[in-house]
Amino acid sequence: MSDAKKKVLMICTGGTITMLHKDGDSSKPLVPAAWNDIKNNCPAFESLPFEVDTTDDLEPIDSSDMNPDYWLKIARTVSDNYEKYDGFVVLHGTDTMAYTAAALSFLFENLDKPVIVTGSQLPLAEARSDAAQNLVTALMFAASFDIPVVIPEVCVFCGGKLLRGNRASKVSSVSFSGFDTPNCKPLAEVGVRIKVDAKNLREKQAEGFHINEGFDNFDNNVMFLDIFPGIKPQTLRHVFKTPDLKGVILRTYGAGNAPTDPAVLREIEDAVKNRDIVVVGVTQCTQGMVETGMYDTNEKLSQTGVISGADLTSEAALVKLMFLLGKYHNTQTVKEQMRINLRGEQSCY
Ligand code: ASP
Repeated sequence: MSDAKKKVLMICTGGTITMLHKDGDSSKPLVPAAWNDIKNNCPAFESLPFEVDTTDDLEPIDSSDMNPDYWLKIARTVSDNYEKYDGFVVLHGTDTMAYTAAALSFLFENLDKPVIVTGSQLPLAEARSDAAQNLVTALMFAASFDIPVVIPEVCVFCGGKLLRGNRASKVSSVSFSGFDTPNCKPLAEVGVRIKVDAKNLREKQAEGFHINEGFDNFDNNVMFLDIFPGIKPQTLRHVFKTPDLKGVILRTYGAGNAPTDPAVLREIEDAVKNRDIVVVGVTQCTQGMVETGMYDTNEKLSQTGVISGADLTSEAALVKLMFLLGKYHNTQTVKEQMRINLRGEQSCY
């Protein structure tokens, strides 16, 4: 197929990229708007050397309102149109983009086309915006136009970096380089030239793309829990008694450390062993990983039954846990699967 015939589907979900000021008044807050309302602000869009169809079927939202049902709607839009397009761009707010990219990565089996999630820090309608650059380059990656390889992954593209979606975190609310993958290199860097790091791409999976089978929905009976100096056992007890709580991402210090206060550890152990809650340790550090056994403190934590989230980002750990709890209704299987690198989201266990 020649480049001229390539086709991309752009799925609009809202976010700053398509936002407008309320009542057209720049002193008022930004509110979600549809692609059709703002598309004239991107003349380059009209002269792309491949075809782009857009769908405004999904309600434009601030991504602060993103949720698992919406993740499924995006995934179904990709799946329903999979054969018709060479790749997909998802326009999305940056605030929860990392969660959505992780969710899509777990939902898709045998993905062999690019799904590029992009947004911007300033709206497309503003003169000094980063939006047009992000949008046009994301579309080029999705079309594999002028790109040496087809990237068969869910990626985040922002600020000149193509990142593995389930490794990405929003690291800045002000910089145009708002995203990073602190524990792995970008898949591609974009300047005057586009440099793809082909050896870091995931290998093409088996034939037959589909949305994960046997999966009902993401289970949102989960939460983040940050360890901090002075954390009280009673606080932990109350948290773990939350009705229907099934999973906790425990954000620990450094290499997976937590206080050794027996009363604190007892509450965590009670949650794991008597309440059947899956507790996964990740690091509070932006970069690095849980290394069980490196310190007595993390050895003691692992003896309570907390499992290691290795070098998962907090976002990917939470979404993976929601995904696994929604797919397997068995704690042991969830724990086993949590340790497996399913979509390139972690490099070790
Ligand atoms: N609040 C916006 C959103 O996530 C921020 C952005 O898009 O940059 O939808």
